[in-house]
Amino acid sequence: MATTLMPAPSPYRFFDVTVERTCLMGPSTLRVTFAGADLARFASLGCDQSLSLFLPRPGQAAPLVPLDAGDGWWAAWRALDEDVRAVMRSYTLRALRRDPDEIDIDFVLHGDLGPASRWAARAVPGQRAMVLGPQVADNPSVRFRLPEDADSVLIWADETALPAAEAILRTLPAGLPADVWIDVPRTADRRPLMTPADARIAWLAGDAAPGAARGERALEAVRAAARRGTRPYAWLAGEASAVKALRRLLVGERGVDRRNVMFAGYWRTGACEEDLRAQRAAKAART
Ligand SMILES: Cc1cc2nc3c(=O)[nH]c(=O)nc-3n(C[C@H](O)[C@H](O)[C@H](O)COP(=O)(O)OP(=O)(O)OC[C@H]3O[C@@H](n4cnc5c(N)ncnc54)[C@H](O)[C@@H]3O)c2cc1C
Repeated sequence: MATTLMPAPSPYRFFDVTVERTCLMGPSTLRVTFAGADLARFASLGCDQSLSLFLPRPGQAAPLVPLDAGDGWWAAWRALDEDVRAVMRSYTLRALRRDPDEIDIDFVLHGDLGPASRWAARAVPGQRAMVLGPQVADNPSVRFRLPEDADSVLIWADETALPAAEAILRTLPAGLPADVWIDVPRTADRRPLMTPADARIAWLAGDAAPGAARGERALEAVRAAARRGTRPYAWLAGEASAVKALRRLLVGERGVDRRNVMFAGYWRTGACEEDLRAQRAAKAART
């Protein structure tokens, strides 16, 4: 019997969503719960599952995403006028629930400078958005991949990566030594974190060390900590220069195998997400 090879389904699709409710999680973070019939097909392993969020421009009822371009949506979206095309930003799936189908995204409220932060601060039930997210649970946008032979975990996250760190912590094997640093703007941003791991969780807060640069704070804390385990897996995410400095410390000074360091700049001081995307594209073109 002849077999027909079917192309693998794309791990991602667009989901039409509306704001269901919001909840302030602390002075710096607002949780937005989205609902939508499409979300029945949303599937994810969780952890640091990232997604692309599309938001309407001021005055628009819904984000403008050229869905009719099919797989060519990216080129079609880029060809649209910047003032009308949807704002596209990266966020993390904080939670996926069923009955009813809902997803949570935790937005850092960093002021009116960024369109996503501005949108979140004013979000009310019924507002429309679009998510480009997973329909296959195990997909490349889950980047936390604990190697089987790792004997410990090291996590550094700032407030933008706290939703991912929170989800990762819940999935760690029971008793695994885990050293965790969470760097938030304010002491009141701290919240209880649940994990079955043998975790030492340290909160670093900007208002507790005014004037200290975030990267310096992170390096100092990680340098001062006693090591646990000989084959650590490190996951570093947050402000790009802090992440870079920490990775250098772990690989250069501590001799951690670079393949066991997952690092991601989630944002960069002074650069909006479009700038970061353009910088990455230019770098990729050079290599
Ligand atoms: C994989 C991934 C997952 C992410 N998950 C989350 C998440 O779950 N929650 C979340 O809040 N963010 C998350 N981020 C970060 C988020 O995409 C950026 O903070 C983004 O810049 C926000 O868009 P904006 O429109 O508000 O600001 P932009 O228009 O991109 O930036 C405007 C200005 O604000 C500054 N800025 C951006 N973010 C911050 C910040 N947090 N604090 C202070 N200044 C800032 C920029 O440097 C720039 O000067 C994630 C990023 C990535 C790559």
